[in-house]
Amino acid sequence: MSPDRTNPWEMAQRQFFEAAEAMGLDDNMRRVLSQPKRELIVHFPVEMDDGRIEVFHGYRVQHNIARGPAKGGIRYSPDVTLDEVRALAMWMTWKTAVVGIPFGGAKGGVQVDPRKLSHRELERLTRRFATEISILIGPDRDIPAPDVHTNPQVMAWIMDTISMHKGYSVPGVVTGKPIEIGGSRGRNEATSQGALYVTLEALPRVGLNINDAKVSIQGFGNAGSIAARLFHEAGATIVAVSDSQGGIYNPRGLDVQKLLEVKRETGSVVHYPDGDKMGSADVLEVPCDILIPAALEDQITEENADRIQARMVVEAANGPTTPEADRILHDKGILVLPDILANAGGVTVSYFEWVQDLYSFFWDEERVKSELKAIMKRAYHAVFEIVDQKKVLPRTAAYILAIQRVVDATRIRGIYP
Ligand code: GLU
Repeated sequence: MSPDRTNPWEMAQRQFFEAAEAMGLDDNMRRVLSQPKRELIVHFPVEMDDGRIEVFHGYRVQHNIARGPAKGGIRYSPDVTLDEVRALAMWMTWKTAVVGIPFGGAKGGVQVDPRKLSHRELERLTRRFATEISILIGPDRDIPAPDVHTNPQVMAWIMDTISMHKGYSVPGVVTGKPIEIGGSRGRNEATSQGALYVTLEALPRVGLNINDAKVSIQGFGNAGSIAARLFHEAGATIVAVSDSQGGIYNPRGLDVQKLLEVKRETGSVVHYPDGDKMGSADVLEVPCDILIPAALEDQITEENADRIQARMVVEAANGPTTPEADRILHDKGILVLPDILANAGGVTVSYFEWVQDLYSFFWDEERVKSELKAIMKRAYHAVFEIVDQKKVLPRTAAYILAIQRVVDATRIRGIYP
């Protein structure tokens, strides 16, 4: 990790303690909830196509399971650290609690750049990692899902690996699977769909109409690319997007269909012909109404927060804004829809997928969308009721709501033995 990068785990703990303070949480609960429950570190060999054997490092952290089985994605990234996975696991605990679905929080990661592996190498790595963490995962214990640089195919390999160990199909062990093997309709779009639903609820607070809104999106992966499409379909103008190779900006608007084609054909949105090229992080600072960070943690910081020109920040990524930046944005009058609310649509449809797998009864897309919308709207209003009552930042309000739900579950269950 570069020395100037904020440690995500320190950041997650600070956010927790700040909310704990605001709600007057007692010291016992602070001690219990500020630490992860379980952490598994694995080092495992994978045979490369040329016969070499590489050893990879991976993690699965369960932060809390008071409200139900652990839930959270697995990311493949060269920069994954234990502290990052810890932070992401804790954020999952609060996220599932904010939307009121019966899960705890977990996260996993493997230190690898999957773009440098062949399809077969990626499959062997995934199957071996799934085997290594099989001592923790299962439909009633801990249910992984896609995250940065993982996708439905990776979930299919995990599902198949665990099923081979058991000797029968276990679809409920992961979510975000292909539809053909027990995935849910609407899961691919769910994170961005949920972000759109809460954005539509929040727009009146900043006096904006979606049809007049200019949108800038950092990240063009699972969340960002679909957000571009859905926000465009809802009437907004997408003025800037970026991926890890760079960004593209056109104040008159980008053609989203063309962006998706360019990304598919050339690997990056920077090859889009009709706009100004810029750095990946520069799209955060262009004039727009809605800014959607949809990439990684630690993007909106003390260093650049003052230059952000949006009216609203919708956190499709996990942990994109540091606590210092949160304050700066608030002082500038920018409304932040925090990650644990704004991107909770993904895990909410993961919940629907898990329920469908357990029942072996599958819903149509209309049902998925309408149940998602109801949950996102309810969570949005519960959070903003706290914002208005307690005069706290939306992130703190979301934390207060979430922490209280986890505290209630912990108190009712009691401390064992
Ligand atoms: N990786 C997604 C997230 O950060 C989805 C997790 C899930 O569906 O379990 O929310």
